[in-house]
Amino acid sequence: MKYLTLGALLFLARVATADVCPLTINATDDMRFEQDTLQVETRCTDVEVTLHHTGRLPANIMGHNWVLTKTGDVAAVANAGMGAGLANSFQRPGDARIIAATKIVGGGENAVVKFSTAQLERGVSYSYFCSAPGHFSMMKGRLVLNAASTSSVARNVDRAEAPKP
Ligand code: ZN
Repeated sequence: MKYLTLGALLFLARVATADVCPLTINATDDMRFEQDTLQVETRCTDVEVTLHHTGRLPANIMGHNWVLTKTGDVAAVANAGMGAGLANSFQRPGDARIIAATKIVGGGENAVVKFSTAQLERGVSYSYFCSAPGHFSMMKGRLVLNAASTSSVARNVDRAEAPKP
């Protein structure tokens, strides 16, 4: 009886977490991300990124966020965000080039953002960066889609070629 219950729980847990893939990235008081690449397997339907500020400095001195855009949009989105201020986490409100982003956090704080991988196209380069003024040249990295199996590759290609609404 205990076996059945445990089995059912494990099954439910697997269904509930589906293909949401957790990723963690650390940001530091010396203006760095500790990871310069984040890998996303193509089986992931969603990604949940946790930004952890490992430092001690407050958000108004050394605050960091995590912003995902196409690599070609990084500089323009960072520049647009500079004028948006800390209250907007240095992101221009409504900036459609931002695929996903956390708010700005200070030392010891976390921020989480979840986004769908359906909007990521194969063959396109994606980067993340911190949009606090002056940080993006130091704080950036690549988000890489990893083909883990042929079936998920095929599914992704289908999505990429689906007509846009
Ligand atoms: Zn930063």
